Amino acid sequence: LGGSITRALQQMTNATVIDEKVFNDCLNEINRALLQSDVQFKLVQDMHTNIKKIVNLQDLAAGHDKRKIIQQAVFNELCKMLDPGKSSFVPKKGKTSVVMFVGLQGSGKTTTCTKYAHYYQKKGWKPALVCADTFRAGAFDQLKQNATKAKIPFYGSNYCIAVPSFLYSYMESDPVKIAVEGVERFKEENRDLIIVDTSGRHKQEAALFEEMRQVSEATKPDLVIFVMDSSIGQAAFDQAQAFKQSVAVGAVIITKMDGHAKGGGSLSAVAATKSPVIFIGTGEHMDEFEVFEVKPFVSRLLGMGDLSGFVDKIHDNVPMDKQLEFLQKLSEGFTLRIMYQQFQNMLSMGPMSQVFSMLPGFSSELMPKGQEKENHAKVKRYMTIMDSMTNEGMRDR
Ligand code: GDP
Ligand code: MG
Repeated sequence: LGGSITRALQQMTNATVIDEKVFNDCLNEINRALLQSDVQFKLVQDMHTNIKKIVNLQDLAAGHDKRKIIQQAVFNELCKMLDPGKSSFVPKKGKTSVVMFVGLQGSGKTTTCTKYAHYYQKKGWKPALVCADTFRAGAFDQLKQNATKAKIPFYGSNYCIAVPSFLYSYMESDPVKIAVEGVERFKEENRDLIIVDTSGRHKQEAALFEEMRQVSEATKPDLVIFVMDSSIGQAAFDQAQAFKQSVAVGAVIITKMDGHAKGGGSLSAVAATKSPVIFIGTGEHMDEFEVFEVKPFVSRLLGMGDLSGFVDKIHDNVPMDKQLEFLQKLSEGFTLRIMYQQFQNMLSMGPMSQVFSMLPGFSSELMPKGQEKENHAKVKRYMTIMDSMTNEGMRDR
């Protein structure tokens, strides 16, 4: 989506004069990109009408930068489309918050619970995971595996309804009871973020909603996060509404934004339900998880860069006393030694496409997703070459 829109704007920028035709071509290109990512037709139409209303080519005096005005209008309209006009509950470090995850089976709840816990743990929080999914076989094992990998405490029961009843007489099977026990235990341990993963049984929605209502009533979560798969596109609207009718959904996380998904459709559909999207999942790996904020997101989508996200990454990954120095060096010239240090820092910041797409002028197109590993390997190779250089050589620019 971002690529096509950026290309459309770029093509317009490359044109010698921006006349009615160039402008219309650009808008049509953008429309096509939005429709392709499953954004509702009416939203696309509204956006088109609004931009045409705001940008009146004839009225623009010769001195005005038409490109800038058009790009700004596209930016504003996309922001409007994705902004639910509401914010969500924000947990406070050091104070206990209970966060319950809901969503259909396969939407990515269990994966996302761990990503969410890991995200906060990196910032010095003390999260814990509770598995209240007793429906799917292996649900607890999956959470246990994820939690162990991320070194996060967990609670649950190996019970599952697929096990013959004579075997599970000694196991707890009631999701409500397990959820309460887990939350109680972690409250006693002064954990500041207690995350409850739930079941998402398919084709039994009535029973699922009833279970969610009971778990929520018993654990009294400060925040209920609804997790959905981006590939459902516009259908996100109905799904989000359905969940909101049984539990007090306070925020949404959209997963699998890395696929050739209908990302634009799900994002705009969720905004239409007035639920704030707080994170997006961009891969199966624990670190493929991004804070979602409308303006920086659209900015990156349009290849305009997102310095705030970049600064956040630096904040999280570069030691406090080195941050200023790091930024200064980034903006000065590079000696090889400094470049080596920058590379080292960047590798520790996570997926390179994420880091690069945050810099103005580097759209994520420059770091294609599929080549993550290759790019990583390339940077590592440069570092190995540098390792073998003498100190003398490293000082040269
Ligand atoms: P649950 O049934 O809702 O708990 O879903 P799971 O957490 O078990 O996830 C279902 C599948 O989706 C797993 O194979 C995950 O690895 C995968 N998955 C989850 N989030 C993402 C994501 O952001 N991107 C991709 N590509 N896969 C994801
Ligand atoms: Mg699960």
